[in-house]
Amino acid sequence: MFTPFQLSGIGLHSGKKTTVKISPAEKGKGRYFMRVDLPNKPIIPATIDSIATTTLSTELSNGDAKIRTVEHLLASLVACGIDDAQIEINGNEVPLLDGSAQNWVNQLDDISRKPFESSTGIITEAIWVRKDDAFCVAFPSSEIKFSYGVDYPYLVLENQWYSWYPQRESFVTAIAPARTFGFADQIEQLQKAGLIKGGSLENALVCDKNGWLNPPLRFENEAVRHKLLDFIGDLSLLGKIPLAHYLAYKASHQLHTELAKKIKLFLDVNH
Ligand SMILES: [Zn+2]
Repeated sequence: MFTPFQLSGIGLHSGKKTTVKISPAEKGKGRYFMRVDLPNKPIIPATIDSIATTTLSTELSNGDAKIRTVEHLLASLVACGIDDAQIEINGNEVPLLDGSAQNWVNQLDDISRKPFESSTGIITEAIWVRKDDAFCVAFPSSEIKFSYGVDYPYLVLENQWYSWYPQRESFVTAIAPARTFGFADQIEQLQKAGLIKGGSLENALVCDKNGWLNPPLRFENEAVRHKLLDFIGDLSLLGKIPLAHYLAYKASHQLHTELAKKIKLFLDVNH
């Protein structure tokens, strides 16, 4: 059980301010959003079946009610062992805050945070998805692990890999502080497409061909750690994350969520 808390801030894509209030929910209810600004306060379960679009952030929907950029908040909850939570929000996008998950996990004290725990669903064979040379895979493993690789045509983002083992290093110190990142030469194009209206040098690391425009970094490999944060947030749509070694390379929210869907199918058929 944790003490309810709330945070406000602007959404990365909408640029609009919203307030999020998170409270414990009854056991078995799962994690779910409630759009308190809409008539009848519709609920959007944070599950695979609610996945709507996955362009540059993960959006969930239930009928006309939508909620966007859920991944950093959901990663924080699943990693801190919070399986049941009511997330009230008065708009359609979760605030980006400083671009990381640090502000969310800092709202939970040491007693509320539980060690990362996997579900009882067992992955007994490799489950994978790919697109071109990008892929996501879940391998059978005796310990839950997450590995990620990025390789972008920018000096600071070439061939960067990282593995996080929840049993050995806490989410709070290893993953939560890693911030969103972007590329200077894509900003204009994305803004023209109506995206990243709330993005700035205060809430995202930005790089160009020569390096980072707004150092210092919190980790030398902050970008790949952030990709792990996104991956964990997307996998949290399964509920508790099943025991496996998760590995992704040059992946996106689309591939992350496709893997989650394929895992759900596998578990539904095999259990
Ligand atoms: Zn992210």
